[in-house]
Amino acid sequence: MLEHTPITHTGRDVDRHASRLARLRDVLTAAGADGVVLAPGTDLRYLAGYDALAQERPTLLLVPAAGPVTLVAPRLERARAAVEVRLPSFTLLTYGEHDDALAAAAAALDLPDGAEVAVGDRTWSAFTLGLQAALPGRRWRTAAGLLAPLRQVKDADELAALARVAGAIDDVHRRVPDLLRAGRTEREVAADLAALIREGHDSVSFVIVASGPNAASPHHEPGERPLAHGDAVVVDIGGLLDGYGSDMTRTYAVGTPPDGFVAAYDALQAAQAAAVAAVQPGVTAGAIDAVARDALTAAGLGDAFVHRTGHGIGLDTHEEPWILAGSDVPLTPGMAFSVEPGFYLEGRYGARIEDIVVVTDDGVRPLNRVTHDLVVVP
Ligand code: ZN
Ligand code: ZN
Ligand code: ZN
Repeated sequence: MLEHTPITHTGRDVDRHASRLARLRDVLTAAGADGVVLAPGTDLRYLAGYDALAQERPTLLLVPAAGPVTLVAPRLERARAAVEVRLPSFTLLTYGEHDDALAAAAAALDLPDGAEVAVGDRTWSAFTLGLQAALPGRRWRTAAGLLAPLRQVKDADELAALARVAGAIDDVHRRVPDLLRAGRTEREVAADLAALIREGHDSVSFVIVASGPNAASPHHEPGERPLAHGDAVVVDIGGLLDGYGSDMTRTYAVGTPPDGFVAAYDALQAAQAAAVAAVQPGVTAGAIDAVARDALTAAGLGDAFVHRTGHGIGLDTHEEPWILAGSDVPLTPGMAFSVEPGFYLEGRYGARIEDIVVVTDDGVRPLNRVTHDLVVVP
């Protein structure tokens, strides 16, 4: 059975989501889109504050460019959705186990033939294809380019959350030297790190411990390799606190690092510092990538720097803006992103230094404070 319940909320968090909704509607109108459909995920959390369950029963937020907002949700999620969707007013449309949820959503979306509908880009294809079948004659596009311009510029509350979670991961990195000893396996170190991350975060997002030649693989999965004297060890860790992510890399050495490593590390440290120092409003994301890349290229490490310089961070650990060669996205106060150049020499070693930084009105504010110097443990 379909049930339509009008819901209203007030409060500071509701005001914040109301202003995000108003800005999204401006973006929709400017882009010529008539409505947007969002499934569970960070776009929905950003817009409505609702951390919905992604499951086979669709939960869909329907936002027409003009007109009332509807949340379509399964009957069994009704109590949660009524409280947790932090919008000033919306219709909660719940469906039962035998209803056609996508047909109900299509009817509630109520957009005419020829209308353009944007769909959040992490919506399950089963839902998108079902909506398309129920709404023939409409035009479809991804909502990614509509939400990203909003999400990539953080407000004061979001920046405070990012600073808190950055402080929490700093605290973990300060304790990493105690965990690294010759003979301990990557997996043992990773388990200790996960426990430390949980102390200051709500959850662990990822733990990379890459030792010796494994450090030449940027996203190495910690394995059974024991740390050995002479290893460089890349430790890249992150978690979530109040919904916002941390992501921070330092490279450590167990005993004396191999020939050539220290000189390469010094070049990396200088490249990372130069890229951070270049951050200011109006500079392009591509220019920041170029600063890091040119410095490493001058040190003979250009080919060993195999990834982009950084990524935005917020509700998602990887989100726009991309600090990517050639990007002409201008940096704007409130953007938060990683600056994480590295070098990776297969069969030998690798290193990366990663901080989260925020673009301020006149420059840059790094959120991570732990030393960039190579920390050598005995
Ligand atoms: Zn990464
Ligand atoms: Zn990272
Ligand atoms: Zn990162």
